[in-house]
Amino acid sequence: KSGFVAIVGRPNVGKSTLMNQVIGQKIAIMSDKPQTTRNKIHGVYTTDEAQIVFLDTPGIHKPNSKLGDYMVKSAQSALSEVEAVLFLTDVSEELGGGDRYIIEQLKKIDTPVFLVLNKIDKVHPEELLPIIEKFSKLHSFAEIVPVSAIHGSNVSALLETLTRYL
Ligand code: GDP
Ligand code: MG
Repeated sequence: KSGFVAIVGRPNVGKSTLMNQVIGQKIAIMSDKPQTTRNKIHGVYTTDEAQIVFLDTPGIHKPNSKLGDYMVKSAQSALSEVEAVLFLTDVSEELGGGDRYIIEQLKKIDTPVFLVLNKIDKVHPEELLPIIEKFSKLHSFAEIVPVSAIHGSNVSALLETLTRYL
């Protein structure tokens, strides 16, 4: 099984940390070189069963320039070309405009979107359910997976779930 997976999320939600954790578990290559004008390879995860290419998608964040319109369209078409999208969020912060903006972009594509609730080490377990409910009201996610990227908690479950979609 193999496929391309885009990682999206606001700055500082833990995208790089998650990639380091994933690549640390099974390393192939890690690169910051532009792959196409729309996507940038973050890392390739390889096992006997699967090869997953993780891509960074610039332009999914709320644009702060006039170039924004082109960036947004370009990001949408990039997200339509991958097998799955990982939407990372930080559960220790309130659901705000940044996340809502990204969710609006994700509504425009047919690609399955995984909601990855990161930094679960920073909240009490009973705080998770209300967060899941809030996000579920905004979009129909293919899967919702809580993780702690920094500690590696539940990251293998995330990879197994992802592999099933490829
Ligand atoms: P990015 O901007 O989305 O790539 O975010 P980074 O991976 O650079 O992480 C931003 C900050 O959040 C860093 O200080 C990380 O150490 C921290 N961080 C990332 N994942 C976790 C996590 O699971 N738990 C905690 N407590 N901190 C995390
Ligand atoms: Mg980063």
